[in-house]
Amino acid sequence: MTDMTKSKPQIVILGAGPAGLGAAFQLARHKKARVTVLEQRDRVGGNAGSFEVEGLYLDYGSHRLHPACDPAILQDLQQLLGDDLLLRPRHGRIRLKNRWIHFPLKPLDLLMKLPPEFALGVLTDALLKIMPPSKEKPDQNETFASLLEGQLGKTICRDFYFPYACKIWGIAPEEISDVQARRRIAANSLGKMFKKVFSKLQWNSSPSTGREGGRPYFYYPRRGYGQISEALSQAAIREGAEIVLTARVQQVQWERDRVKAVTYEDPSIRHTVQADYIWSTLPLNILIQSLQPRPEEEVILAAKKIKFRAMILVYLILEQDRFSEFDAHYFPEPEIPITRISEPKNYNNAVEPVGLTALCAELPCETSQEVWGMKDEDLGRMVLEALSTAKIPVTAPIRQVFTRRIQYAYPIYQKGFEKYFQLLDHYLEGIGGLLTFGRQGLFAHDNTHHALYMAYSAVDCLNEQGDFDHEKWRRYRNIFETHVVED
Ligand SMILES: Cc1cc2nc3c(=O)[nH]c(=O)nc-3n(C[C@H](O)[C@H](O)[C@H](O)COP(=O)(O)OP(=O)(O)OC[C@H]3O[C@@H](n4cnc5c(N)ncnc54)[C@H](O)[C@@H]3O)c2cc1C
Repeated sequence: MTDMTKSKPQIVILGAGPAGLGAAFQLARHKKARVTVLEQRDRVGGNAGSFEVEGLYLDYGSHRLHPACDPAILQDLQQLLGDDLLLRPRHGRIRLKNRWIHFPLKPLDLLMKLPPEFALGVLTDALLKIMPPSKEKPDQNETFASLLEGQLGKTICRDFYFPYACKIWGIAPEEISDVQARRRIAANSLGKMFKKVFSKLQWNSSPSTGREGGRPYFYYPRRGYGQISEALSQAAIREGAEIVLTARVQQVQWERDRVKAVTYEDPSIRHTVQADYIWSTLPLNILIQSLQPRPEEEVILAAKKIKFRAMILVYLILEQDRFSEFDAHYFPEPEIPITRISEPKNYNNAVEPVGLTALCAELPCETSQEVWGMKDEDLGRMVLEALSTAKIPVTAPIRQVFTRRIQYAYPIYQKGFEKYFQLLDHYLEGIGGLLTFGRQGLFAHDNTHHALYMAYSAVDCLNEQGDFDHEKWRRYRNIFETHVVED
């Protein structure tokens, strides 16, 4: 290492998901810091990673790179992945009252396939909305349920959003904060929804419309979604960053209001690495628990109120070329326990392996529930029953059934979470050199391109002298607040 590199600050990044890797790559290539990334797993990518089974590339649930990605970041990914970053048309469907509706929604398909009572209900709700609103001021007690019902009407809420929300977050829509509806749902009013559907009639292609030749599309790497993270990781290493796998962070040490070091286990030996800055993408509550010295009780209690929904991913390897032509099937209805199945071969359009395909079923749950400990065979049976109920039974021989479990799938915006989040956020701001970002770190229900944007923003706040511009970061934080999750 040259003397010039030695004078740069040492930044220890916690977590090698897209947020951690994006920051490592940017820091290293702009020679702003000496970088070490600590990741507990034996591979990079976090929830956006992939793995290979019998020649099939599998993700942790349905993952797509959305065209809404910041152009500079997208350009970097295109350069890193080259021809491997495919442009693919979106082709999914939603089960609604025993019918299948194309997703993303298409005007003609909606007209032909919408259940008549549902269409009539939406129309009535739309007409009622033309009347002047009864409420002048925003309601202090607004919830996800009241806000969406006010904006979208009863029908869509009752038959789609509310049952889907119950499955995803595990709480009643009345218990969910209005923040979920305001900031995280793109089409959160009938007007926006109609606009979204009917703008699809325009044959324009641009990243802002997410359409190519008039059709919605997404980016997807040839070797699974995790190839994005692998490419970032390799590029970061080439630029001089160090990435340590199977390194579980145990302690984030600080002294006199400033970070000092990180202790991690690998997997049995304890190591300590000194740090000028610690940039964490770990779940916010885990970061708080790792702080040494320990924060006061009020902070520890607030961290316990920050909750994440877990998810079991059930994979079926089937002895057939394709299960269906669709990339994903969505199940809002309560009688089907899973929220979605995806068929990875329809994401990368792979021909190989011939005679073999995979399905990945998403089952949101709590780690305290019995289902979390269920055997793979039983979970496999549950998925097969769900698909039979949905009238898309598996008929091909099943080669394998296995599962993966993710503990931090979705942040749960339970009503009142904001005050606990703000308390933690404020507390962490008081520790010099410590930064938290990414989906888990900022408790943000958002996409990979948002996590990457946070990473690039953090690096932009570090100047050539190694000082961090907090004012600039605050401005970026305001931008993050406007991020809306794409499905
Ligand atoms: C089911 C599902 C579907 C999704 N679909 C899409 C999609 O279609 N498109 C899209 O853009 N986004 C999608 N997302 C979101 C996407 O997965 C996230 O935006 C992305 O993974 C966030 O990256 P991150 O780096 O912030 O967090 P993560 O990917 O969660 O990375 C955090 C990392 O920290 C590590 N870590 C945690 N604790 C420790 C510890 N103690 N020590 C060391 N390391 C630790 C973890 O192992 C992990 O690697 C989906 C998410 C889910 C759950």
